[in-house]
Formats: sequence, C-alpha cells, structure tokens
Amino acid sequence: MPIINRIAEFHTDMTAWRRDIHAHPELGYEEHRTSDIVAAKLAEWGIAVHRGLAGTGVVGTLKGRGEGTRAIGLRADMDALPMPEANTFDHASRHDGKMHACGHDGHTTMLLGAARYLAETRNFDGTVHFIFQPAEEGRGGGRRMIEEGLFRQFDCEQVYGLHNWPDLPANTIAVHPGPVMAAADQFTITVEGHGGHAAIPHKAVDPVLVAAHIVTAVQSLVSRFTDPADSAVVSVTWVQAGTAYNVIPDEAKLHGTVRTFNEATRARIEQQLGRMAESIAAGFGAKASLEFRPGYPPTVNTEAEARVVAAVAAKVVGETNVSWAPDPTMGAEDFGYMLRERPGAYIWLGHGARGNDGHGGPGCRLHNPHYDFNDDILTTGASYWATLVETILPRSA
Ligand SMILES: [Zn+2]
Ligand SMILES: [Zn+2]
Repeated sequence: MPIINRIAEFHTDMTAWRRDIHAHPELGYEEHRTSDIVAAKLAEWGIAVHRGLAGTGVVGTLKGRGEGTRAIGLRADMDALPMPEANTFDHASRHDGKMHACGHDGHTTMLLGAARYLAETRNFDGTVHFIFQPAEEGRGGGRRMIEEGLFRQFDCEQVYGLHNWPDLPANTIAVHPGPVMAAADQFTITVEGHGGHAAIPHKAVDPVLVAAHIVTAVQSLVSRFTDPADSAVVSVTWVQAGTAYNVIPDEAKLHGTVRTFNEATRARIEQQLGRMAESIAAGFGAKASLEFRPGYPPTVNTEAEARVVAAVAAKVVGETNVSWAPDPTMGAEDFGYMLRERPGAYIWLGHGARGNDGHGGPGCRLHNPHYDFNDDILTTGASYWATLVETILPRSA
C-alpha cells in the first residue's frame, strides 16, 4: 500500500490549503486564522472539535468502527517564524515579517488530509486525537497544551509526530530508535569583579580575564566530562563586559546554550558548569554565578514504537526509502515534551532540497527565507498518518 488512492485524490485540495496557510503565516499563540481553518475543516468532516488548549490549540477526536477503547495522538504544529519571506510566487507571505519557513503549513495540511480520509473511511477500531499545536518555534505550545490538560482530557496511549527534512530526498522517511533531537538549554554566567583603571590592574579584580578563563574551561565539559559515545554541545555565544578601553569593568556576563540527548548528561553539565565558573572565579578573587534556563527536553523515541512506525513507513514509501537510526541532530523540538509523557515516535519525512538558498546553494534548508514546503510530499505524509492509524488500531477481522 503506497500512497493511499483516496488521499492521492486530495492532492489538489491539499495543495490549495497548504498555499493558503503559507500566504497567511501566524506566529506562536497567534494562530487564530489557521486554527479557525483547522477547526472548520475537522467539523465539516464530522470530527469532534475541541479548542482553546494553549490558546489557539485544536484537538479533533475521531472514533473508528467497532468498540475498541484504545486511543492514539497525532500531532502537527501550526506556527510560522518572525522573518521576512524572500520568495515572490503567488502564495508568498502576505504578512510582513512573518513566514512559514519551517514547513508547519505542510505539517498542518498533511494531518488535515489524513483526518479527512480517516473520517470518510473509519477503517480502524479505537480513537484518534488529531493534535494541532501552537507555538512550536521556541515558545513551548506543546508543553502548554500538556500543562493545560491535553493528556488528561484526551488520553492517548501513544503519541506521534513528524517533521519535513530537506536534507533527505523527497518521499523518504528516517526513523530513530532513540534520540532524534537534542535538549536546548540556555545559560548566563555573571562574573563579579572589582572595577578600576586599566593601567592599575593590581588594584582591581578583572572580570573580563576571569570570563575568558571560564569560556576556555567550559569547553572541557564536552571533551572531558561527557562520555565520548554520547554527544553534547556547550557554546558560549554572547559575551558582555565593559564600556571603555581604559576601564576594567565591575562585571562580565557570558551567555550560551547547552545541547544534550540524555537527561543525566544534561544534569551533569548544568552542575559542572556552575561549579567550574564559581571555582575559576574564586581562584581570581572574583565571584561567579550560573543561571541555567531549561528549554525543550530531548526528543527521544521509544524503540518499540519506532519499530512500528518504520514498518508503516516501509508500507508507504517502500523499504529501500526508509533509513533506520541515522544520526540525530542537535536542533530541538517541542514534541520532546509529549514524548516525555507518552511512548511514541517522531519521524523525519524527506522533503528534498529545492530551489536555491539565495546564495547559489543547492537548495533551501529550514528557516531559509527562500524555503517553500514541497507539495509533492503532502500525500505521502497524509498516507503515512492514515496507515499508522490503520496499523496501530486495526479492525478485527
Ligand atoms: Zn523551525
Ligand atoms: Zn519546524
């Protein structure tokens, strides 16, 4: 069963929905028009609609045939990015400074396509919750839906997600049996010294020098405190200190990000980062303090569910087009919160690098101002969702 025939018939409609959403991008928690469209279509197809989780979130609930009590959740994200679009085609953004450059217009459309098909056929036994979340891009709409009762109101045994992936050829699928994306945390280290004249340094405690030692030392958190078979990133990306060439300032600040795939490594780096900063500062007679701001958790698939989705993917795109256990990436995903609550799996759906990136590059990646979602994969994604439901919640023979 490759692309489901009935879904192939939706291609023209799905392309029109996708381009309409693309032309009207909305930022996180402001997806009013988009969620109105989603809710109206689900209702039109006879799917029960719940609105208001995390503000603009929409959940559609559809029961299959039979008496099955099992339920699963399928999630799509709806938000755009605060960036101007460089494309000039007809469906380019009509909202200044906002753009669907991550393909969430396509994700929303693919889940709608699957919902329409499943509502027509109901060839499954159990319940599907179609979860349309706001604010994936850094603002934690998925986390907020959970906090506001997503899984209490819509109990799902398992939850599934996907993201288009320009680095993979169109209509291929990659499945990870464990970590897919990293945790993304932020930190600020404040170094307090004692300011003074740059020509009289021995009467001051120089926080710039202390900060420089800290920047160098924290690189050993990965090379000497993290198992070489594990992965982590510690990047100091923003250094703030001083106002003049002849003044030693009182204070220096270091800001940066930590990326990890497992919670133990994440906790150890946080602890060690603070200890290192404090002890280095103490050695210079200064003081340092760490503020660690946890961001998205790692997105980690459960292996049993990953195996199921790999088999479903093979049915849809063919076994040779499914890659198993490719390297994960250090990017982060709000869906990590959902996978912390329920078993499940998040796949990468190959998108292909299309067009050019505006610098003569071979194709657009995510968040590029020339990016546009590839409509050729809409029916693949919708068929994947529908096949997943019919596989996990089969009708008894
Ligand atoms: Zn993105
Ligand atoms: Zn995205």
